[in-house]
Amino acid sequence: MNFSMNETEQAIVDTAAEVSRNVLKENAQKYDEAESFCTESLKALGELGFMGINLPEEYGGLGISSIAMSHVVAEVTAGCASTASTLTAHFLATDSILIGATEAQKQEYLPRCADGTLLGAFGLTEPAAGSNPAGMLTKAKKENNGWRIQGTKHYITNAAEADFIVLYAKTNEELKHKGISAFIIPKGTEGVHFSNPEKTMGLKGSHIYEISFDCWVPDSALMGQEGTGFNTAMEVLDRGRVEVAAMALGISKAAIEYSLLWAKERMIGGKPLSSYQNTQWKIAEMHTQYEAAELLTMKAAYVRDYRDRYSLESAAAKLFASEACAFITDNALQLHGGYGFIRDLPLERFVRDARILRIFEGTSEIQKLIISRAVILG
Ligand SMILES: Cc1cc2nc3c(=O)[nH]c(=O)nc-3n(C[C@H](O)[C@H](O)[C@H](O)COP(=O)(O)OP(=O)(O)OC[C@H]3O[C@@H](n4cnc5c(N)ncnc54)[C@H](O)[C@@H]3O)c2cc1C
Repeated sequence: MNFSMNETEQAIVDTAAEVSRNVLKENAQKYDEAESFCTESLKALGELGFMGINLPEEYGGLGISSIAMSHVVAEVTAGCASTASTLTAHFLATDSILIGATEAQKQEYLPRCADGTLLGAFGLTEPAAGSNPAGMLTKAKKENNGWRIQGTKHYITNAAEADFIVLYAKTNEELKHKGISAFIIPKGTEGVHFSNPEKTMGLKGSHIYEISFDCWVPDSALMGQEGTGFNTAMEVLDRGRVEVAAMALGISKAAIEYSLLWAKERMIGGKPLSSYQNTQWKIAEMHTQYEAAELLTMKAAYVRDYRDRYSLESAAAKLFASEACAFITDNALQLHGGYGFIRDLPLERFVRDARILRIFEGTSEIQKLIISRAVILG
């Protein structure tokens, strides 16, 4: 396995690190305090072509490897996890189109998604179907050269801000998961209603919504072939879990950087905090967890470029990196003592933002199911 990047990719990652430091980090606290959508940071990423780092060049993307893409996602997250979550939710929508749409639909949507003109949302989860998306209740029935869609999705990132939603719905209930199809629902479609943004623990600059559908869409809204939606969604989640793992690396890296600075500066009993063995052991453990998480993430990113399905690798990377991020952010806060609890520093925000990484795109328990099935059944 080769985790290296070419010169162009390295330059793109360096640019991501720069914009993260100079723009995203500046905005992160503001979004967190005001619970306001990360508009300016997203615009900055769009201007650099980062809204299409998951896409090949033929559709206007940067055409970089998944290794490089993961480094970019990690850098963006180190500056602002809310912006990274908004970005990676957009990738779930555009990956859906890349994997499951017709060529005409790809040409219609992807170049404008890549250049930041269009923002996407990915509508899979429902109130009664989260960990088990095959149990979804949203239905699409043929009506007047099109489809009548009825149902409710919830916790959908970007939904009200997005220019389109990739919506998963059952077109044939008897076929269970094989009866799930995807639709591209443009903004402004009559009969689509959004809740207010949910009040969340973290990622406050990235909004999630409940959406109710009682709408009609033309046949052209069906994404690709009828009945292929579930497979598309599962392939998209394989890809997405690598990105969640990369987000975990970004928050972890930022938390470790703050901890190293603090451990050297903070004097306790006339000695720097870093001279105490307890601190040294904590930092050694945080560093080792980070390194292991990075290796698993890069392994999953590597196979992402060579295989259609790599559920085992992406689940293992997401499980380990998100759990490591919880350990690292909690210890980083602890090393800062009372100061870690104060909102002047981002340590408490790191803990809050990191919490969702163990839940969305499949909880840690679901990752363990995926991993154990693959390992036991071979
Ligand atoms: C901030 C945020 C952003 C999100 N963005 C999106 C988005 O853009 N698009 C989208 O479609 N969804 C999105 N989601 C939804 C997210 O993916 C789901 O919340 C997640 O998959 C878990 O589903 P659930 O909430 O229904 O939990 P549940 O499925 O109700 O799980 C509850 C508990 O039961 C456990 N559990 C469930 N099944 C099993 C099992 N078989 N074995 C053992 N334990 C089990 C779970 O691990 C969990 O601990 C988002 C959620 C949040 C909070």
